[in-house]
Amino acid sequence: MDAASLQKVFGETFPEQDQCITVSAPGRVNLIGEHTDYNDGFVLPMAIDAKILLVGALRRDTQVRVYSVDFDESDSFDLQCIASSADRPWSNYIRGVCKLYPTETQSIPGGMDLVMQGNVPQGAGLSSSAALEIGTAVLIRELNGFSADGVTLAKLAQRAENEFVGVQCGIMDQFISILGEKDHALFVDCRSLDYERVPAPFKAADASIVVIDTGVKRGLVDSKYNERRQQCQEAVEALRTWQPELTSLRDVTPDLKARIEQLPAVSAKRARHVVSENERVLKSVRALKQGELQRFGQYMNASHDSLRDDYEVSCRELDLLVDLVRDNPETYGSRMTGAGFGGCTVSLVPTKEIPDIRSRVLSQYEKETGLAPRMFVFQAAAGARRV
Ligand code: ADP
Ligand code: MG
Repeated sequence: MDAASLQKVFGETFPEQDQCITVSAPGRVNLIGEHTDYNDGFVLPMAIDAKILLVGALRRDTQVRVYSVDFDESDSFDLQCIASSADRPWSNYIRGVCKLYPTETQSIPGGMDLVMQGNVPQGAGLSSSAALEIGTAVLIRELNGFSADGVTLAKLAQRAENEFVGVQCGIMDQFISILGEKDHALFVDCRSLDYERVPAPFKAADASIVVIDTGVKRGLVDSKYNERRQQCQEAVEALRTWQPELTSLRDVTPDLKARIEQLPAVSAKRARHVVSENERVLKSVRALKQGELQRFGQYMNASHDSLRDDYEVSCRELDLLVDLVRDNPETYGSRMTGAGFGGCTVSLVPTKEIPDIRSRVLSQYEKETGLAPRMFVFQAAAGARRV
């Protein structure tokens, strides 16, 4: 649905409102830098050209009334006492952002009417949830004439998801959804939250980002994720033998890196992935700045191999998809993206190869696994903004 159509829905849903503001907020895919965020490391996501649109107007009271086109459901609540909703789970992302807005920005928003509709696939690991949170936060800012900056709203949206929805996500998704820029990726230092926009001139090079959802239900993901975090902590503690002040794998120096091989086998593997992945992100940034897509693709490949062999968070289906995409000799690179054990792969391919990927890769995958994969093609898009 485009902005004009959604504005029409807004007019029909709230006929007493005679003005409205429209904002859009994108989903995202992480190009490289996996399992580095909770190790104070580096990530390189890009915003995708799939987004959620919100159309809203202020009210004179403290009510919020919202209609979701995608769920064909409505909800309402009062800004003065916001509780979580059991029968409208999608509303909790909005409720959480509304509830935390005053604490995080020192500005008190008024009530509002809004409608929303999105085309970020939900639950596919492309962060439709962050798009919804950031869309809500930007709509509130624009409606009330506030001036909160992107980093503040990203922190607010992450807190809403952590505390109100109850999902322990890092800040990457919210960060890229608001700070993304067309034809750019976003290099983020997860410790300082310093960031830099990096050219991702895929379109100009007739290349595209292809995301394929394995269709694997990610049952193991929570327990394995916590186990990996724990193992990274153990590796840090073991490395303190040589560098007592070490607090995270981010700070492993070249001297200390040589010691990794002396750690117990599991600690060594986990540390090797995190340290090498951070290096790959830095090298990827340089490759993209020089327009070297081949080199960038090689780092994507190396990232996958490290996640598979050292971090051990891949699975048969992710490996199969990556191999099938790499079987096309023109593929720049292909890797799993997200926490692993299912979810999606991300690949950089020449746009003219997309028909091959769509027919050969998907059908072979389906034949070998019995699962129905979903494929999406993206370019690097702008972050959340008023449209
Ligand atoms: P992901 O972020 O990977 O897409 P999540 O489970 O974190 O998956 O978030 C998906 C949830 O976000 C949906 O179940 C829904 O509650 C909410 N959501 C996302 N997009 C929309 C939308 N367009 N309309 C209403 N709710 C949405
Ligand atoms: Mg999410």
